[in-house]
Amino acid sequence: VWRGALIEYIEHPERFPNQVLRLTEQTVLIKDAFPKATVHLLLLPRSPDHYLLHPHTAFEDPAFLVTMREEAAAAAELAAAELARQLGSFSADHRARDEAMDRGVPFDELPPGRDYGRDIRVGTHAHPSMAHLHVHIISRDMRSDRATHRKHYNSFNTPFFVPLADYPLAEDDVRRETGFQNGNLARDLVCWRCGKGFGNRFAELKRHLEEEFEEWRAE
Ligand code: 5GP
Ligand code: ZN
Repeated sequence: VWRGALIEYIEHPERFPNQVLRLTEQTVLIKDAFPKATVHLLLLPRSPDHYLLHPHTAFEDPAFLVTMREEAAAAAELAAAELARQLGSFSADHRARDEAMDRGVPFDELPPGRDYGRDIRVGTHAHPSMAHLHVHIISRDMRSDRATHRKHYNSFNTPFFVPLADYPLAEDDVRRETGFQNGNLARDLVCWRCGKGFGNRFAELKRHLEEEFEEWRAE
């Protein structure tokens, strides 16, 4: 993978009708080509003044941060809708609401459906591998056949993943430190859902995540 590959989506979004989900004046929203969860999108700013900056630096610009937060919120809604589309028929809350609707229960008396937005996370990697600034919009499950290394999992499930809401980072924020972040990538594996430890047994964690996925989608 070439570090600069994401520029293509910024400069020629029309060439990728199957990957580009949304194009605004400020951003391009694309599907991650190697998704690490059921729904995994990348939000790229189009501004040449920002798109090569490290996230820690870029989000020190307050106006830019506000824009990216607004665009990310819209992207997260889209991701939640996609998750609902994929999980809806499995979710107990979702089904209960659908069934009530079918029975003709008035709108304001319907049980609340599942809030899929709760399962969408928005943030950046502390040390991105791709050169162009991107915000990950990713569902919580971490179910993926593209996640093949401990670091793939840990990059989303330790402080290596920096929520967009946490920016700007304080000058002394430990998440800026390379040593701390290398340690996070090399950490023992822990299930995001039940907290069970898996050491460095990635294959075992993956089998466990399959079981967690079944329960999580049925919530
Ligand atoms: P980073 O570690 O830099 O925060 O994440 C970069 C992300 O870009 C990864 O999740 C990776 O799967 C994704 N990616 C790498 N190359 C491409 C590409 O050419 N197209 C798309 N759509 N995603 C890519
Ligand atoms: Zn678990």
